[in-house]
Amino acid sequence: MSAATPPKVRCPQCAGESVWSPENPWRPFCSERCKLIDLGCWADESYRVPVQEVPGVSGLPDNETPPQS
Ligand SMILES: [Zn+2]
Repeated sequence: MSAATPPKVRCPQCAGESVWSPENPWRPFCSERCKLIDLGCWADESYRVPVQEVPGVSGLPDNETPPQS
């Protein structure tokens, strides 16, 4: 007895697989982290908050890589 499989979408942030269901409050993102990252980018774009950029350091930690198949 399994319910209908919820549709899966591609996470706009990490391009990983995201489940589109009420159990995933972060949809279309796969996780809170991805959503926050995306919102942060939007805020920078929208409000043009002056930020101090550190040369030579990219802002995103690269601890996780999406599985490639
Ligand atoms: Zn993601």
